[in-house]
Amino acid sequence: KANGRSGYAIFSPAQEELVTERRALERDLREALDDSGQFCVYYQPLYAARSRGLAGAEALVRWDHPVRGRVAPDAFIPLAEETGLIERLGAFVLNEACSAAVNWSVETLAVNVSAVELRSPVYAVRVANILMATGMSPRRLELEVTETALSDKDGHVQQNIQALKELGVRFALDDFGTGFSSLGRLQQLDVDRIKIDRSFVQGFGSENGDEAIVRAIVDLAKATGLKTTAEGVETVEQDRFLGSIGCDELQGFLLSRPLPRYEFEEILAGLQSQ
Ligand code: C2E
Ligand code: CA
Ligand code: CA
Ligand code: CA
Repeated sequence: KANGRSGYAIFSPAQEELVTERRALERDLREALDDSGQFCVYYQPLYAARSRGLAGAEALVRWDHPVRGRVAPDAFIPLAEETGLIERLGAFVLNEACSAAVNWSVETLAVNVSAVELRSPVYAVRVANILMATGMSPRRLELEVTETALSDKDGHVQQNIQALKELGVRFALDDFGTGFSSLGRLQQLDVDRIKIDRSFVQGFGSENGDEAIVRAIVDLAKATGLKTTAEGVETVEQDRFLGSIGCDELQGFLLSRPLPRYEFEEILAGLQSQ
């Protein structure tokens, strides 16, 4: 790490540690993708705000590392994206979720998709193959994408979205309000649903006017023909307010945490025997 002329970056001991940890995590991620068993998919119920009925579930990946224990998605999804490993991870999650949901009597299986996956020239074909192999109906699949992914100018992103829409797959704009999204751009983005980020829901009651913002988002979405889901509903007050302004679906710890497949299927079984 000679200074100057060779142009090497100089790392402080703290930075060295970060780099080492990152490499270790990447190695573990690769291993986990090979031996599998370490990854599984949880399902968080989505409820209709008005009827209180179960509308579907969002698939959320879980990683149980033999030594690290459970690693939070926020700690490894970005690394999986940077290393390209997200393509294999995403295919695993979609395959698991579609295999599980094929016999579920709910309207929607929501699955998160990274911008990196959408850029792949074979993404739409991969999804179509998984749908066919599992027998899952494309009309019940809703892919959750962020605004950055949607506005990607890379040809393949738009081609993938177009091809999947033709199959009947729906799209939801995830984490709405956190990016550069302006209400005015909603019409252009051409999605079926927006998911209002939990930071707004959790800002209710403070002085920054999050209620007014969320009301405006819901009103505009309605006027544009988009469905709305609010994330991160944790209190009865948030639930009531969101219902009162006409938000379509609710998701959050108040209603249910993300559940392992068998627990979600117990809920479904309970509904059927009613
Ligand atoms: P997200 O798509 O916004 O997913 C919702 C996150 O909010 C989940 O965190 C969920 O457990 C959490 N959550 C749900 N209800 C509440 C609540 O009432 N309060 C609070 N505080 N949190 C709530 P999780 O499972 O840790 O996932 C974090 C993020 O990781 C996800 O955010 C998503 O961006 C990403 N992710 C998870 N699974 C996948 C996946 O299979 N593929 C991709 N590409 N990304 C994934
Ligand atoms: Ca999501
Ligand atoms: Ca979200
Ligand atoms: Ca997110």
